[in-house]
Amino acid sequence: MTNRLDTQKIVQALQSVLPQGTPISLHEPSFQGNEWAYVKECLDTGWVSSVGKFVDRFESQLAEYTGAKRAVAVVNGTAALHMGLLLVGVKPGDEVIVPALTFVATPNAVTYCGAIPHFADSEERTLGLDPARLGTYLGEVGDLRAEGCFNRRTGRRIKAVIPMHTFGHPVDMDPLMTLCERFKLDVVEDAAESLGSFYKGKHTGNHGRLAALSFNGNKTITTGGGGAILTNDEELGMLAKHLTTTARVQHQWSFVHDRVGYNYRLPNINAALGCAQMEQLPLFLEQKRAMAERYQEAFDDLHGIRFFTEPGSSRSNYWLNALVLDTRHRDSRDELLELTNRLGITTRPAWTLMHRLPMFSTCPRMDLTVAEDLEQRLINIPSSACLGAPHATA
Ligand SMILES: *Cc1c(COP(=O)(O)O)cnc(C)c1O
Repeated sequence: MTNRLDTQKIVQALQSVLPQGTPISLHEPSFQGNEWAYVKECLDTGWVSSVGKFVDRFESQLAEYTGAKRAVAVVNGTAALHMGLLLVGVKPGDEVIVPALTFVATPNAVTYCGAIPHFADSEERTLGLDPARLGTYLGEVGDLRAEGCFNRRTGRRIKAVIPMHTFGHPVDMDPLMTLCERFKLDVVEDAAESLGSFYKGKHTGNHGRLAALSFNGNKTITTGGGGAILTNDEELGMLAKHLTTTARVQHQWSFVHDRVGYNYRLPNINAALGCAQMEQLPLFLEQKRAMAERYQEAFDDLHGIRFFTEPGSSRSNYWLNALVLDTRHRDSRDELLELTNRLGITTRPAWTLMHRLPMFSTCPRMDLTVAEDLEQRLINIPSSACLGAPHATA
């Protein structure tokens, strides 16, 4: 029957590119470089905590690789987002536009500022914010005044937008930036998943005023836990460093803090891991791309499902690979999840959309038809860099 999805064929396609005989996780870290040496150096010298040379080196490596003027290493990606929002001036009672299709950290960071997440829809081509539909929506609800954009329905100021580069695939930033300029909205990119992803030749995180990266254990590179703020604004970069290091005024021995700061700095021992991981980033990206190409080939002539590939004018890091079921087959998603996980192939659905979570259920939102449709059709499949290494060929 052509109407039924051939789930066995899909499982076979997965098995054809994955190593056999061992359980396969969704994304695991790889430590094949100088991790042991750098961490040992921290332990041997006692420089494990809040200052040390690896923090400075890691920040330089990140700035150099991404092309951002400044990178500030912090404890995790959520803290980086929180700080980014504070630095663009998000205030209690403001609204911040975030995609409904994202990880909970995005709206959580908005809430930490006392602000309210305002959920926007995604487009199928990028899995990220849809600039065209957001533009139409803001045309309806946005009241543009000298002081900024206000929500006609709630009376609150809409201060900023957080585009999130889903699974590493870049949002269509050019039209989004044009839109945000028109509506006087600051852009803080959630680039937590997109280290190594470029939009029109420019690394993600360089388009907005600030961006957040994450180095959690499941990301493209990891520091155990960690994150970074990226910016091309020197002054904001200095302020980011100051605010994330308890706002202590530089002095050899006195302890003076000139405002309420945050203890968000990345410990040197974590940065040591980060330095070693950055050295291997080009290799990880090559392996991830090789794996994506194998998946693409394996799913090329299957019906009812496709492998999600990078949107045009972007080069994606393929952080987390995804399959997209045709709309008519969305009821087969759970069957596929069951089948694969039972075989030891870890797969999972996309995040439950943010407006369905109890703490965000009353937040303002636009029509979320596309995100709601995608939510039921996306399946993430194993994506560790090591799977793309030549020896892992099935
Ligand atoms: C990983 C991630 C973050 C940040 O996570 P941390 O665990 O705090 O480093 C933020 N947003 C998205 C979309 C993420 O995937």
